[in-house]
Amino acid sequence: MSVQFNKVAILGLGLIGSSIAHAVRAYGGAKSISGHAKSAETLRIAAEIGFADNLHATAADAVKGADLIILCAPVGACGALAAAIKDAVEPGAIITDVGSVKGAIVRDCGPHIPSHAHFIPGHPIAGTEQSGPRAGFAELFQNRWCILTPLPDTPPEKVDALEAFWTGFGSKVERMAWDHHDLVLAMTSHLPHLIAYNTVATAGDLEQVTQSEVIKFSAGGFRDLTRIAASDPTMWRDVFLNNKDAVLEMLGRFSEELSVLQRAIRWGDGETLFNLFTRARDIRKGIIAAGQDTAAPNFGRDPTHKS
Ligand code: NAP
Repeated sequence: MSVQFNKVAILGLGLIGSSIAHAVRAYGGAKSISGHAKSAETLRIAAEIGFADNLHATAADAVKGADLIILCAPVGACGALAAAIKDAVEPGAIITDVGSVKGAIVRDCGPHIPSHAHFIPGHPIAGTEQSGPRAGFAELFQNRWCILTPLPDTPPEKVDALEAFWTGFGSKVERMAWDHHDLVLAMTSHLPHLIAYNTVATAGDLEQVTQSEVIKFSAGGFRDLTRIAASDPTMWRDVFLNNKDAVLEMLGRFSEELSVLQRAIRWGDGETLFNLFTRARDIRKGIIAAGQDTAAPNFGRDPTHKS
């Protein structure tokens, strides 16, 4: 890695924050790591695992002397975090984040960024349904995209430095405007989570089928949706509250396609069903061809559930 920060401050030590800390330890990117989380319990667990050099009860203490600051809290908490650190940020420091929505981060954090710092919102497209400080691992970002949404006045060399930090973990970096990010992610991430939450909740509400039958006979498709629906409720509440317009736009399009399917089923229109399913399968093939997932049956999972 060509760029080495002196000190990275990670604010929020859950899945993403702790994974960044592990990745810095494994691959470099910063000489030292300081961490902060909201609760004493998370700080205690972080100390027990030992993925940071220093842990702090306040965000302001954590960022002192840091030339890279990464906000790794839920989207709705980042504005208050930016406000809490503003007087402690070192001149020339880069402040970035990992939030799943970028417009709200620009809106909420932007006003608190000191003029002597550089604000580069970011989003690693990497995650699992796990959360908390025990969930992180160094390889999380490998071969995954990280989107940076630099603002027009950010010096290019600062964006290059942050890009090098992520590519050092094996990430591929793409730069785009924050509003475009929010539209793309509404389709590829936010809508699928909404569908998963809703499908699982619908099954739970069924009166003719008991909950134990739903669990006992859960087929692959339903099981895959339950995995997505196990994601952290705080994080996802904040995503939907903060990417409202883009999600509603994609939900509208989704509902129209759903009506087409509903009509085809009602009228026995097999050709429409077949053509839509074929188009969808081609997209899956594209994802595998792009190296974003495995072609192995059942996502390469062990059918015995032992691993
Ligand atoms: P997580 O595992 O639930 O961890 C969130 C962390 O933020 C916890 O350590 C929590 O502290 C801390 N926190 C919450 N409010 C805070 C506050 N006011 N001040 C300081 N720390 C605070 O969540 P995550 O999955 O890592 O997600 C973090 C961010 O990454 C979110 O913005 C999310 O949108 C984004 N993201 C998530 C994924 C994913 O798949 N999970 C993928 C990409 C990006 P306590 O533990 O003490 O409460």
